[in-house]
Amino acid sequence: MKLVTFEQNGTERIGAVRGEGIVELTAVFPTMLTLIDNGTEGLSAAQAYLQSHSPTYQLDDVHLLAPIPNPRRNIMCLGHNYAEHAEESLIATGQTVELPEFPIIFTKATTAVNGPYDPFPFNAAISDKIDYEVELGVIIGKPGINIPPAEAISYIFGYTIINDISARDLQWQHKQFFKGKSLDGSCPMGPWIITADELDPTNLHITSRVNGITKQASNTRHMIFDIPTTIDHLSRGMTLLPGDIIATGTPSGVGFARTPPEFLQPGNILESEIENIGIMRTPIGT
Ligand code: MG
Repeated sequence: MKLVTFEQNGTERIGAVRGEGIVELTAVFPTMLTLIDNGTEGLSAAQAYLQSHSPTYQLDDVHLLAPIPNPRRNIMCLGHNYAEHAEESLIATGQTVELPEFPIIFTKATTAVNGPYDPFPFNAAISDKIDYEVELGVIIGKPGINIPPAEAISYIFGYTIINDISARDLQWQHKQFFKGKSLDGSCPMGPWIITADELDPTNLHITSRVNGITKQASNTRHMIFDIPTTIDHLSRGMTLLPGDIIATGTPSGVGFARTPPEFLQPGNILESEIENIGIMRTPIGT
């Protein structure tokens, strides 16, 4: 299923996409998190409802929100999880090129979450070094601790697209990534969740464009730490919860590592695309 959260008449609703329409599921589950909390039974109930009802909305007529607009806790993110991006970042900041031995993990504040087509509120007084990072997002479906890699896939509810928009000046000034990664609107997510049964995440083209010009183009098969390994590391001694969101790192081509460096400007359109999931469009600064 392709699951959306949307706003209609001022109310948050969820639904499943069929063709260009949405079958609203709000009568069964009020929010995406309640659907996820209900595990495989929840998915079966949503599927049954989808099969027995007709679309009530057209995708084009509603305001899509992030599929999980208010996560319970911070988005967990991997840094330097594609070798070419690790190399470009280390070279651009004058460091020794060394691939990570363990995943680099940081988080983004829940208040950074943004809709898939909503603008990023650019404010040059806060940061004029706004950069893009397209990433595959993994949504956890059930609680788990010490999850072995061989079982990790069974803990996944689904997949989405994330752009880990980054204020590079703040990221570097404050040493820890948290502040520079957590500006309001800096985590566009969506346009939907593709449930885990419908997507093989291991070999997907992943692309970003600014004003139609390709900036990042890679494949999820180039991740250094694949999704099972990432879930293994994250869950060691730390419980993962239903609805947790993991951003699995970005490929090379980010703005700050370019020669000369490029940063997003007001009026730019940032597109984030992953094969078999979809495309997000983020206008900058409006
Ligand atoms: Mg990132």
